[in-house]
Amino acid sequence: MRYISTRGGIAPISFTEAVMMGLATDGGLLLPEKLPVAAAAEIAAWRELAYPELAGAVLSRFIDDIPPADLQELIRRSYAGFNHPEITPLVDLGECRILELFHGPTLAFKDIALQLLGNMFEYLLAASGGRMNILGATSGDTGSAAIYGVRGKERINIFILHPHQRVSPIQERQMTTVLDANVFNIAIRGNFDDGQAIVKKLFNDIPFKEKYQLGAINSINWARIVAQVVYYVYAALRLTGAKGAGQVDFAVPTGNFGDIFAGFVARRLVPGLIGRLILATNENNLLTRFVLDGDYSVSTVRPTSSPSMDIQVASNFERYLYYLNDEDSARTRQEMDDFARSGSLRFGPDRLARIQADFASQSADEPATLATISDFYRRHDYLLDPHTAVGVYAGLACRRENVPLVCLATAHPAKFGAAVEAAIGRPPELPPALAALENKESRCQVLDADLEAIRSFVADHAV
Ligand SMILES: *Cc1c(COP(=O)(O)O)cnc(C)c1O
Repeated sequence: MRYISTRGGIAPISFTEAVMMGLATDGGLLLPEKLPVAAAAEIAAWRELAYPELAGAVLSRFIDDIPPADLQELIRRSYAGFNHPEITPLVDLGECRILELFHGPTLAFKDIALQLLGNMFEYLLAASGGRMNILGATSGDTGSAAIYGVRGKERINIFILHPHQRVSPIQERQMTTVLDANVFNIAIRGNFDDGQAIVKKLFNDIPFKEKYQLGAINSINWARIVAQVVYYVYAALRLTGAKGAGQVDFAVPTGNFGDIFAGFVARRLVPGLIGRLILATNENNLLTRFVLDGDYSVSTVRPTSSPSMDIQVASNFERYLYYLNDEDSARTRQEMDDFARSGSLRFGPDRLARIQADFASQSADEPATLATISDFYRRHDYLLDPHTAVGVYAGLACRRENVPLVCLATAHPAKFGAAVEAAIGRPPELPPALAALENKESRCQVLDADLEAIRSFVADHAV
């Protein structure tokens, strides 16, 4: 399996090269030269497998340059710390099923990909004798999943910038109570955009980037997508087959388009089993306008109770655009250039029909999100986090008769206690992992939002 860029500017590379490259060097995103399709007999055999073994089977359709036994061991280690034996259990609520993706160490679905990515980085760096300094800015949630993905790993240090005293206390403690020597939390006196701007400048400083082997851990890494393909296949296999349904629909709370793109890849991989992919947005509904009207135009970000979806420009969108353009990289590059200039793309009737064959979509405003949380609590005694609630709202709106609906639950409700309290009148109970944070020792460096201050801190503490 070779990997190419959506913009056509690189010679095909291997999976491990794609993982280490992250963003393609021509500015595009990396994709398999050809998306794999599993045969019926293979899919039948997959039905018998537990999650880690299924992950091994699915990932080996995308990865041919890590020996299968090593890959299986990386997967085993990545999911050994999850607090549910099924890793991603399905909860049947009658009108829909909830696919709980929050049983990892930081109680959010990003653990599923980042636990594996951390282990892969360590494994590949051990083989090459290299090292990596991961640098990123977070507004709260992805920072902790990235930190837990690489804590204690050899040959890797991680530097995560967050805005000082502007992330929730739980989010801050999730990051700063990780005391491993390779983890550096930096609270900057400024906001998220200040942190993001500094990180961008350091990545654009090529001599600095090369000298310190800067690495990114954001959602454009192909390994993250591929890890997420697994749970779509897992859920579809459990609900279809001999005694089950013909196919399943999925509702996906969407921000950067990474998770739903994994669903798109999964649907190709197991033909016939996955029906509709329902793209759910909050009030930042650019992607819903794209699906319903063929209008992909940015506006300003509105803060909502589902902050991990408060995104306008979805970083993985280009991957889907490439397929919508029948794998025409010249056209994709042209359109991404146009978009960078104008902030807008329009899709005519032909392409719109194809978009609507690929996705359904619905956005949930704030009242609808909170009403869905309180409704599910009342009727099912089940607590949704606000991101999951956006997905459930859209899922029920786009639901089909006699087709099981799976709603992806992307975070544990206790991570977003304030929104849950606003919906049901009391805060959610803290699970032990979050309750324990309160009394833990923490470590964090507070620095000015100053490029040179951050640059020298990274240089002084780099691996
Ligand atoms: C990141 C995130 C999302 C959005 O996923 P994308 O892959 O960016 O579309 C949804 N919910 C939660 C809780 C997240 O952390």
